Amino acid sequence: MSAIGISGLSKTYRGGTRALDRVSLTVEAGEMVALIGASGSGKSTLIRHISGLVPADKNSGSCKIVVDGAIVQEGGRISRNIATARTDIGVIFQQFNLVPRLSVLNNVLAGLLGRMPVLRGVLGLFRKEESQLAMQALDRVGIAHTARQRASTLSGGQQQRAAIARTLVQGARVILADEPIASLDPASAKRVMGILSQINKEDGITVLVSLHQVEYARRYCKRTIAMRDGQVVFDGPSRELTTQF
Ligand code: ADP
Ligand code: ADP
Repeated sequence: MSAIGISGLSKTYRGGTRALDRVSLTVEAGEMVALIGASGSGKSTLIRHISGLVPADKNSGSCKIVVDGAIVQEGGRISRNIATARTDIGVIFQQFNLVPRLSVLNNVLAGLLGRMPVLRGVLGLFRKEESQLAMQALDRVGIAHTARQRASTLSGGQQQRAAIARTLVQGARVILADEPIASLDPASAKRVMGILSQINKEDGITVLVSLHQVEYARRYCKRTIAMRDGQVVFDGPSRELTTQF
């Protein structure tokens, strides 16, 4: 079973921009795939569609997106079971992914919200085992010492690591990372990519990560999908990538 299956996905924004043009692709379970393309090529739009945040064009009736066996959307309609599908999908954005005033630990615990009774979640009634799980995840990404700090006090690299820890606590089987290293210095960027690569290898979590630097795609991902003007223009081994696409 594929981790991500997309067929015939098109998206035209209000105003007429055709951000995605008949995109079809498959990512197998356990792959770590780079999504490359110039600014405006459609990478974010693609990731938002896979995570079920945005519906595809209604008139592209044959469009279907499946993640980990669950339909995310079909024929321009978000699935009624999207809440269930979403528990398997961890999303990491370029920035502003954490609640700044909450502690790092509570931000990571928020990964459990989709899997627990709403009231317990709203009241922040986490069990001891859940806090321990969150601490383990923070330890894995190397920032356990920041657990009690407010998220706003973390460096950019640390915030991304906390966001990864949250997807671990969530139990995500697929991680969609939208330009997670675009705002980071090279050392932090390497660390974040290294952690994504590590959890991909050790936990078999599928990773689709958008990047705008080809070097990172070559270094961390065996396969790269390149986009231009809303279309897939390359899909193959990262080592075969040229800088022109
Ligand atoms: P990338 O992530 O590769 O930079 P995007 O998916 O953000 O590309 O954008 C693809 C195209 O869609 C661009 O032309 C962009 O301006 C446009 N676009 C993105 N989001 C919106 C939106 N919410 N409304 C209208 N146009 C948008
Ligand atoms: P990054 O991943 O952004 O490079 P690091 O975890 O490598 O961040 O940070 C290096 C050191 O600096 C760590 O020991 C970390 O605890 C400390 N540090 C970084 N930013 C902050 C901060 N805002 N507040 C406290 N300590 C920080």
